[in-house]
Amino acid sequence: MAGQSVQRQLWEQYDHLVEGNWVEPASGEYVETVDPGTEEPITAVADGTAADVDRAVTAAIEAFATWRDTDPVERGQRVGRVADLIRDHLDELAQIESRDQGKPLSQARHELEGAARYFEYYGGAADKLEGSSIPVGPDGVDYTVREPYGVSAQIIPWNLPGNLFARGVAPALAAGNAVVVKPAPTTPLSAFYLAELCHEAGIPGGAVNVVSGGGAAGAALTEHEGVDTITFTGSVVTGQKVMEAAAKSITPVTLELGGKNPAIVYPDADLERAVEAVAMGIFTNAGQVCSAADRALVHESVYDEFVDRIAAVAEGYDLGHGLDDPEMGPLNSADHLAKVAGYLDTGKAEGATLVTGGEVRDGEGYFVEPTVFADAHNDMRIAQEEIFGPVLTVLPFDNDTDVFDVANDVDYGLTAGVFTTDLARAHRAAKRLEAGNVYVNQWFGDTNRTPFGGYKQSGIGREKGLAALDSYLQTKNVAIDLG
Ligand code: NAD
Repeated sequence: MAGQSVQRQLWEQYDHLVEGNWVEPASGEYVETVDPGTEEPITAVADGTAADVDRAVTAAIEAFATWRDTDPVERGQRVGRVADLIRDHLDELAQIESRDQGKPLSQARHELEGAARYFEYYGGAADKLEGSSIPVGPDGVDYTVREPYGVSAQIIPWNLPGNLFARGVAPALAAGNAVVVKPAPTTPLSAFYLAELCHEAGIPGGAVNVVSGGGAAGAALTEHEGVDTITFTGSVVTGQKVMEAAAKSITPVTLELGGKNPAIVYPDADLERAVEAVAMGIFTNAGQVCSAADRALVHESVYDEFVDRIAAVAEGYDLGHGLDDPEMGPLNSADHLAKVAGYLDTGKAEGATLVTGGEVRDGEGYFVEPTVFADAHNDMRIAQEEIFGPVLTVLPFDNDTDVFDVANDVDYGLTAGVFTTDLARAHRAAKRLEAGNVYVNQWFGDTNRTPFGGYKQSGIGREKGLAALDSYLQTKNVAIDLG
């Protein structure tokens, strides 16, 4: 609750967090969250409906008036204070995230340290959101101011829950908006915790609300007339629904959607470095990363060696419960396990060479073996569709291939990578690749300071960096006639 210390352990049941108070769901319904490493229930979480969303949006509208007018220095300091509190609570937060999502504990820590950085970074920006002055001659004055929208809806997926909460909430708050967050139904726990830390840092309760639940709560939020801007991270299919709902009231949307990201490995690449980066790029978080290195396009002269080496890396991974901090945890849910298992069957049926992995692990938990499919063609489903699991698709190319035609021949355009020791080749590749983020001789090259977002069906708008603030500020031009 606002101003009070946050919980120090998991509760048996979570209500919605509205205006700094725990509020029972209007339906009285709760859903269980499950530990993906054991398939045992963790806790029960309120199942949100339109009535809960309405309550939270109403609270946000009220809080916005005060938060918007809080001195930007003070506003920034409070946002920055959240970073300190996240660091103070890092151990417990990471444990909750690891248990809820399934990810290895050290990855959860790393992502939550990243969450702290978002609050620190955007807290520092709150008093620098300057407009501009436009020369209009001696008889006029013209200037712009940047103003918050009002209520920002934040809809979050289940793969990096705490980190993505911070990625959207921190810039929204720094810009003076109030937020209503709808976390994913299988990973809501870090959102509650982080919202409480926001309140403890002095951000008004009504400026950070959390309504848990699934698609019904998400849809109600995107349709609510009190919402002024929507940030959605998730799949393309849901993103399309969000856009349709937003179209009714012309509400702006920032969409961060999926990817099927190519990693091009040239003959002159440092192969060890390329293998290491692509393995990290596809196997981190069991492949449940939008910017993952999904497709390796490897020159034929280094193809066999690349495939052998990356298969060896995949075979060396130890899988286990997230809290035991293995190299790879389970997938997040039974539904998602079924989806990834379906792609393992598809890859085999399409005739790609299964080099390693390819099976769901027996026993408790939603574990999939790190998998490498080689000799794939770009028209195969495993080369075109986002699997969102630890499954790498490798395709060879030769000197006669325009590798960019292959790399760009997908509906997505989120990230792309190029591995070469030739600087000119790297720059040429960066120009040709149709992706919002290009990594050279590394993977996951972006930081919280660098703009991130998709070309094509990977999204609209940019998160991270100063560019993200454009999603949370609208420009007003003031024209004055001095005559
Ligand atoms: P999803 O689209 O199924 O769900 C995302 C969120 O939307 C969840 O909170 C869900 O409850 C909610 N939702 C469901 N139906 C809704 C509706 N009709 N209206 C509004 N909200 C609704 O996605 P997911 O399976 O949770 O996440 C995986 C997807 O997210 C992948 O495609 C991945 O690439 C993408 N992703 C993108 C980024 C990025 O920055 N580009 C980051 C992480 C994940």
